[in-house]
Amino acid sequence: MARRWPLTAVLALLPLTAVQAQTPYGGPLFDAHLHYNDEACVHEQADPACPHPLEDVLARMQRNGVRGIVANSRPNDGTRALATATEQTRAAGVAVVPFIRLYRNRADYNNWFRDPSIVELVQAELARGTPAGPYRGLGEFHLYDSANADGPVARQLMALADDQGLAVLAHVDDVAIDRLMAHTASGRHAAAAGPDGDRSPGRARVDQPPRGAASRAAAERGGFRLIWAHTGIGGTPVQRVDELLARYPQLMGELSYRPGLTCEGGQLCPEWRRLLLKYPDRFFIGSDTWVNLRWLHYDDLMQAYRVWLGGLPADVARRIAWNNGARLFGLTPANP
Ligand SMILES: [Zn+2]
Repeated sequence: MARRWPLTAVLALLPLTAVQAQTPYGGPLFDAHLHYNDEACVHEQADPACPHPLEDVLARMQRNGVRGIVANSRPNDGTRALATATEQTRAAGVAVVPFIRLYRNRADYNNWFRDPSIVELVQAELARGTPAGPYRGLGEFHLYDSANADGPVARQLMALADDQGLAVLAHVDDVAIDRLMAHTASGRHAAAAGPDGDRSPGRARVDQPPRGAASRAAAERGGFRLIWAHTGIGGTPVQRVDELLARYPQLMGELSYRPGLTCEGGQLCPEWRRLLLKYPDRFFIGSDTWVNLRWLHYDDLMQAYRVWLGGLPADVARRIAWNNGARLFGLTPANP
């Protein structure tokens, strides 16, 4: 008859990573890349125009422990619907952080960076605000050719975001990160300071001119950040991502669709694990519900994040899952 080992003795013999892999992260999530586009719901219209009404999307967030979201949509009606339903979102325990999308329709994806009417759209929305509070960011926007990061409207909106302390959610390549940052005083300062300079985000240097009312408002909002949607969806090498994070303290990475992020068992690949441990305050998770299929798989997406978050030290997992977003946007979940 085989000898039976007590369970604790068996667990003690397993490598630590194997034990961690079986314990998904169980805390709150901040979804830093959520779209509620008009394919999911055209508001004020009955089915079939709204396959994913508010109750449906909020139920998906709630059952996955998503307590905060960056809401943006094409057109901005979806964001407004989320930001206006304050009773429903409160009941679901979801804090809504509204961002202004630069797109009224699909044509705007390829033209926003040189279309002055997009600046007017942004300024009108900023002035209008939402019932969930002021807009906190711009985007998601796309640049399929990094040269367009130098388009007149791209320049203008980056400077505006820096000036007003807005976050920017950008689906771009690594070349465009440098170009976009060059249109902001924060980015130019960081690049000039070099690796040994004072690179704390939002901190004024003694040689800077006195800051005006806009800058004070910016500081109250938490300061400008460039959130890199997907952190290099084309497979930017991890070393290059590391260099950019080191150069720009205002740069943060959102991890949906990132190639090479996860390996065996859904755990982080070694080079990504090292990067996340090196910069635990610089990353977010996100769903990127850009098509309805992503809503249908929302549970699986969040569960996949919980699996690899569970393989990280608890404090690092908590920061990437929740704290980084909560701190940046000043959120406090009711029951974290
Ligand atoms: Zn997206």
